[in-house]
Amino acid sequence: MVLVIGGGLSGCTVAATLSERGIPSIILEKSGQIGGKVRSYGCKASSNCNNCGLCLVGGLWDRIESDKNITVETNARVLDIYGKRPDFTVSFSAGGHEARISGISAIAASIGFEPSSLSGAQDQQIEDLSGVITGLELERLFSKRKKGTVSKIFPEGVKSIAYIQCYGSRDRKLGSLYCSRVCCAYASRSAKALRFLHPGISQTFFCMDFQRIESPRCYEEMLDMGIEFIKCRPVRIEGAGKPRVVYEKLGGAGLDIREFDLAVLSEGIRPPADADGISNLCSLMVDADGFLQPVRDDGITVLGCASGPKKIEEVHAESVAYARNLR
Ligand SMILES: Cc1cc2nc3c(=O)[nH]c(=O)nc-3n(C[C@H](O)[C@H](O)[C@H](O)COP(=O)(O)OP(=O)(O)OC[C@H]3O[C@@H](n4cnc5c(N)ncnc54)[C@H](O)[C@@H]3O)c2cc1C
Ligand code: SF4
Ligand code: SF4
Repeated sequence: MVLVIGGGLSGCTVAATLSERGIPSIILEKSGQIGGKVRSYGCKASSNCNNCGLCLVGGLWDRIESDKNITVETNARVLDIYGKRPDFTVSFSAGGHEARISGISAIAASIGFEPSSLSGAQDQQIEDLSGVITGLELERLFSKRKKGTVSKIFPEGVKSIAYIQCYGSRDRKLGSLYCSRVCCAYASRSAKALRFLHPGISQTFFCMDFQRIESPRCYEEMLDMGIEFIKCRPVRIEGAGKPRVVYEKLGGAGLDIREFDLAVLSEGIRPPADADGISNLCSLMVDADGFLQPVRDDGITVLGCASGPKKIEEVHAESVAYARNLR
């Protein structure tokens, strides 16, 4: 029996892959349902697939719920872990009851990440939230679209969108100098899909620079599509309803301001909210940015974004490899 703490993409992929080998697992999921953040993402294909990675998930959540090798406990909290490989004992609470399980051969800690908008870590001041949405909210709008259809995401009144890049990332004052790696990619896929679904909407990126993680020509492709890039440091968003982005031009050229119908905060990946609690329970180290350090030789392994920013494809590959190689 393997214990999986956190039933997001990583934890569920581990449990499903272990089951293919006939190894039973128990997922302890803190929230009311498995799936984590990815569960509320939507397809961002335009006329072509934009490779967001979501197709890798397929019917994973349904498979987990009907798999006899996998026990899922939601609203669950780990209370204590003791023992050592291959015989850990865990006590936990779930949905109002407490239980204890012995004979756990290995533990996967896949407690994911906290999005910047919920972590309290952001530098730009926002005067009013009407007319402003987060990257996760944009994902939810895409998830309402039926895959492969040309259905609209926004109401008719939206004619211009601003993307505020590096929201909660790459800022010394926030103590997070690292790049979240996924936000240039998800924002650019959204922009490409919106160019297809809403060709009349103008789109502008406010960014320090642009990560070409997905494809080397991504930036040039977007310029060719008429998507605008303003290289700057966004300072604040003013106004109610119609957000005005105030930004510092590069090279000390002063402040400028632009008005939009909607601003999207391209939020990044912050360390998991329970990093300290889980690091204490599992005797794990926390790195300088606050992520859990992966441990691979004593039966407790950190997987997914709990150890740092990763895209869906990477989380999936890492979790499958862990479960296939577990002895
Ligand atoms: C706005 C946004 C858009 C993105 N879009 C893309 C994209 O298009 N393509 C892409 O490749 N990547 C994208 N990503 C990255 C993607 O979200 C991650 O790769 C993926 O969600 C990581 O999965 P995970 O299982 O590690 O974490 P999570 O999805 O965070 O899952 C962790 C799970 O653990 C649970 N948990 C937390 N603490 C505990 C605890 N103490 N006990 C028990 N359970 C716990 C949580 O409730 C959750 O269910 C995006 C990220 C953001 C922020
Ligand atoms: S969900 Fe859509 S954009 Fe994402 S990989 Fe699948 S087809 Fe491509
Ligand atoms: S991926 Fe892009 S938006 Fe995200 S932190 Fe890195 S540079 Fe900034």
